[in-house]
Amino acid sequence: MKKIGVLTSGGDAPGMNAAIRAVVRKGIYHGLDVYGVYYGYQGLINGDIKKMELGSVGDIIQKGGTSLYTSRSQEFKTDEGQQKGIEQMKKLGIEGLVVIGGDGSFRGAKKITEKGFPCIGVPGTIDNDIPGTDFTVGFDTALNTVIQAVDKIRDTATSHERTYVIEVMGRDAGDLALWAGVSAGAESVLIPEKSDEFEDVIERIKRGHERGKRHSIILVAEGVGSGLEFGKKIEEAMGIETRVTVLGHTQRGGSPTANDRVLASRLGAKAVDLLLDGQGGKMVGIQGNEIVAHDIIKVLDMAHKPELSMYQLSKELSI
Ligand code: ADP
Repeated sequence: MKKIGVLTSGGDAPGMNAAIRAVVRKGIYHGLDVYGVYYGYQGLINGDIKKMELGSVGDIIQKGGTSLYTSRSQEFKTDEGQQKGIEQMKKLGIEGLVVIGGDGSFRGAKKITEKGFPCIGVPGTIDNDIPGTDFTVGFDTALNTVIQAVDKIRDTATSHERTYVIEVMGRDAGDLALWAGVSAGAESVLIPEKSDEFEDVIERIKRGHERGKRHSIILVAEGVGSGLEFGKKIEEAMGIETRVTVLGHTQRGGSPTANDRVLASRLGAKAVDLLLDGQGGKMVGIQGNEIVAHDIIKVLDMAHKPELSMYQLSKELSI
């Protein structure tokens, strides 16, 4: 293999730039030509591809977002779109592709792998919802953004004796809410994997009131319902003033944490190693601090399992 490509796709995540940098630098270190594909799969179809130099990825390791930009492409979901993308790479002599993105992007990578083009997935999403890896690139930064916000809201919640509902991202996975709940000491966490626990939230607020506690922080993962609805339901059930904050896209941006930069660097480098070794159709991940590779087709059939012992811990510590 002499030429490889790299793209970012789907939702952006902090640390994607560190992963791009690792792929480009590691590839050049091993004598490869590395091509950057701009605007994800749509750019691949359109041939928006440029050769990268060492300097192309200078000064980006500390930046959020993705310097290759990203997109969502309906066309790439079709066989013709995928074929066009493969042809664009073949025209330039590119023989392998690294895809940095979430599970949707991995489905695209799986499709081109099935069409015989070697492809490696690097998990980049703040949701931490990819099976086969303990953590995804971007999760740690988003988690730190969430707990900074929760700490600030807690000051006001304490001063005004109010209940605060904070909605965090996580359509299918409650990891962000769960980890934030434990690290910011929230009174309750509502996640999609434990969606029937509303009564328990009310019980906890009541218990807190009985022992003189006048404020509560409740974290809601967006996949379990809207924070505004839960806020209303709590007001109705308890007759107490409840305020709602939706953190929204503040969670997606920002300079990546050291953990995300290191993870992205390790995973990006491993992706290049696999391609050099002639292995396509894999995703890279971290499990127990080991960098691992799994068959991308098999991984997509597996379900992401949140660490439910964390759910129990969060309950025990906010008794
Ligand atoms: P994420 O990667 O963050 O989960 P999306 O779910 O939007 O983001 O997926 C990103 C892109 O991956 C989509 O816009 C599409 O081009 C491609 N993709 C998603 N699912 C498939 C699929 N089943 N087949 C081919 N391409 C897909």
